[in-house]
Amino acid sequence: MAQRDATHDPARRSWVASANAPGADFPIQNLPLGVFSAGLAGPRCGVAIGDQILDLRAAVEADLVMNPVVKEASLAGLMAQGRAASAALRAEVSALLSEGATPRPDVLVPMSRARMHLPTTVRNFSDFMASYDHCARLGVRRDPKNPLPQAFRQLPVAYHSRASSVRVSGEAVTRPHGQWQRQDGSMAFGPTEAMDYELEMAVWIAGDNAIGEPVPMSRAPDRIFGYGLLNDWSVRDVQRWEMPPLGPFLGKSVSTSVSAWIVTAEALAPFEVAAPVQDPPCLPYLDSAWNRSNGALSVRMTAAILTPRMRAAGEAPFILTDTQFAGMYWTAATMVAHHATNGCNLLAGDLLGSGTVSGPEETARACLAEIGLTGPVTLPNGETRKWIQDGDEIVFRARAEAPGAVPIGFGECRGVLNPAIAWPA
Ligand code: MN
Repeated sequence: MAQRDATHDPARRSWVASANAPGADFPIQNLPLGVFSAGLAGPRCGVAIGDQILDLRAAVEADLVMNPVVKEASLAGLMAQGRAASAALRAEVSALLSEGATPRPDVLVPMSRARMHLPTTVRNFSDFMASYDHCARLGVRRDPKNPLPQAFRQLPVAYHSRASSVRVSGEAVTRPHGQWQRQDGSMAFGPTEAMDYELEMAVWIAGDNAIGEPVPMSRAPDRIFGYGLLNDWSVRDVQRWEMPPLGPFLGKSVSTSVSAWIVTAEALAPFEVAAPVQDPPCLPYLDSAWNRSNGALSVRMTAAILTPRMRAAGEAPFILTDTQFAGMYWTAATMVAHHATNGCNLLAGDLLGSGTVSGPEETARACLAEIGLTGPVTLPNGETRKWIQDGDEIVFRARAEAPGAVPIGFGECRGVLNPAIAWPA
């Protein structure tokens, strides 16, 4: 569990001037971790600060940072060391970048010159479905009397998704081919006609538990390395047809986009809030006093669309979803504890998706399947969208906000949808 300390002090400023700009995603209170490359040098770990990246390999070589694991080309080593190591790194980096410390522009790289990579090789990816409003809105169409999955209020429902197709923000997604049944009962095979996004929170795992060794709620919070944005690209026509009774398959494995920067659990300490009250109360193995008082996070999340016409006209992305992560029925800690109930070994760098972060407000529908329940959305330029069209770009952003704390941003998770390939002969 993260404590508030000097690194969260709202008065702390950085000698990196852009980090002090009001509304900056990456002030010194944030210090998210990622993997980048620039010029001819290969991938290495870095910390976002303002519009710069602190090169952690260079910082270790200059004796400014002590932990040599961050010289590696991925965050896997730091994730394996666990939360004590990431907390120590945070304290060190915060002191190094603080106003009053000797400025070291020689260990900075401008973000504009950097290319971002996946934070680690993702070995396992499980996707949850933790929003009451997402389940209720879509479930009403299936069964108005029982819109929720039967276990929804008893456990965080999830499925094992695909790790190999997790990609970093900025990489394009190609409209996939698939099979589905049309409304008239005839069969279809071809490029999907129902491409969707799901606005989700990514949860990155710290440390390992041996197979057979559950993770109780008392230890679950410390298994969370950090958070990011996740687009669970969804192929609705394929998904609807293939799902019963074993669950999602090709409708989900096409691609999953994650934001490049991981906002650490330490950085989010000031934004912990009480988890929503559950009715009925969950079983004791998914409950803890800490989870009830601190298990949720106050993070405002948005999803926006930029169509080719909007791009050509120089217009800003249009916000389709404006939602709040704190309202999720199940917290990240319960996802971790539940996942390991049977002794499943959660590995450092494993990825969990929170499920579509929909809220009760009309503006908080976090996928087009929900938005489209009341008809296609009309964009400011008059275009309409039922599903994502070729060339459309989906852009997620998020910001943690709390009284008395400097707000911190998550950067972006974006991806453009490219047209389908010609089916191979
Ligand atoms: Mn999902």
